[in-house]
Amino acid sequence: MYIGGQWVEAEEGNCREVCNPATGEVIAVVAEGGINDVRHAIMEARRVFDETDWPDTPPVERARLLNKLADKLEERAEEFAVLETMNCGKPLRESRFDVNDAVNCFRYYAGLINKPLGQTYQVSDPMMTMVVREPIGVCGQIVPWNYPLLMAAWKLAPCLAGGNTTVFKPAEVTPLSAIKLFEIIEEVGFPPGAANLVLGAGPVVGHELAASHLVDKVAFTGGTVTGRSIMQAASGNLKKISLELGGKSPNIVFADADFDAAVEFAMFAIFANQGQVCSAGSRLLVEDSIHDKFISALIERSRKIRVGNGLDENTEMGPLISFQHMQKVLQYIEVGRAEGATLALGGSRLTEGAYADGNFVAPTIFTDTTPDMRIVQEEIFGPVLVVQRFRDEEEAVRLANDTIYGLAGGVFTQDGAKAMRVIRKLRAGITWINTYHPTYNEAPWGGYKQSGIGRELGTFGLDAYTEIKQINVNLQPGPLGWYNND
Ligand code: NAD
Repeated sequence: MYIGGQWVEAEEGNCREVCNPATGEVIAVVAEGGINDVRHAIMEARRVFDETDWPDTPPVERARLLNKLADKLEERAEEFAVLETMNCGKPLRESRFDVNDAVNCFRYYAGLINKPLGQTYQVSDPMMTMVVREPIGVCGQIVPWNYPLLMAAWKLAPCLAGGNTTVFKPAEVTPLSAIKLFEIIEEVGFPPGAANLVLGAGPVVGHELAASHLVDKVAFTGGTVTGRSIMQAASGNLKKISLELGGKSPNIVFADADFDAAVEFAMFAIFANQGQVCSAGSRLLVEDSIHDKFISALIERSRKIRVGNGLDENTEMGPLISFQHMQKVLQYIEVGRAEGATLALGGSRLTEGAYADGNFVAPTIFTDTTPDMRIVQEEIFGPVLVVQRFRDEEEAVRLANDTIYGLAGGVFTQDGAKAMRVIRKLRAGITWINTYHPTYNEAPWGGYKQSGIGRELGTFGLDAYTEIKQINVNLQPGPLGWYNND
């Protein structure tokens, strides 16, 4: 762990084994932090924020550090990509994409921080009102295992750009790329204690970050149930919170869509990163008139997806993150069967040959579903697609919004006006027309309803790491004349 500019073991000496989900091999043993470690890190972050000039560092200097960090990460891109694939299983081509995106995220916030952020208002003479942005303070940042490096970049870049300090906690099972990233943070010269890395269990280390009165903001990405407990823990000192939570996002295909493009994007929407994507298009809504033809084409192509070790350049879909998570996904497949949905493809663990020791599940598709089924309503977070059919635009929108979530959604049609009508009706924060999944550092990321609170990325992402102060200046100081007590 990296606390106060020092690499340290856990105070109680505990460790955790980190595995490769494709082979089951232990690939690292890391410190398992406890309550004292996280409290130590919070004190360090507090000290740097309260007692050093880090929060007042000129933006151009913070930008220089972030750009240097981006350059070093870029120089080591392939090493990070391989490490990410070994630790979380995703195919190498996806890890390479993530590393590149992370580099660009640091560059984006380096570029943004020295651009105009304030406002001035012409109020009544002789007053002038200014609005300035200031850092929030100590931030607790907690991320999940599905995009370990990218989530670290999304959290650290705007936080440090804004002059805050941080205690960052990766997911228990995927700490490796974060450890390497903090080596770079040390190398480029951020002040010791400005950015701290603590590893350990969510209910211990994560909970303390959410509950501590010495933390000013908690930023969390993860499951909706955990998000709710973070919100409760954060209420003690009413700290600022950002929550990026789960989803059950609809991908709507109309009969007039470009057929082949829609089929391939329907696959990409659910099978990228083995479906372990918060914004996965996990519900495919297909118009009645093309339903059967579309589903047979989808099954035909999905059957051929090359599942394997992510390190193999030919692999198109890797293993699930852990044995426990795979069990959860397989249980959902059983639930779907028991609920009466038709298992149209896959539905089981792959165990033959090279699959034997990994957490591999075949691409899975359920058809003939009804909206009340658990597999339609609950986030499975695996390569399991549920198909719903609809008659018309109105029914498509109704089914799409029939969920507690509101993270993402897509629509495929060649009718531009219809696409816009449907997208505007979707209760979701991230949407796509005739594509699925592309995201950009420039645009805000976050959900409606129970998919979260607040936005990351873009200018909105920097706003989330700044307080807003109004300064009212009297340009002609003199007595107010309000009290007449001569
Ligand atoms: P999770 O909620 O179990 O864990 C996420 C992080 O929270 C981990 O670091 C974990 O250690 C920590 N944590 C667990 N319990 C905690 C507690 N009581 N207090 C504080 N921290 C705690 O989620 P996961 O299984 O790692 O990730 C999958 C979930 O993340 C999915 O629901 C997915 O949709 C969501 N996700 C959302 C986004 C988004 O941007 N909206 C992005 C990626 C993943």
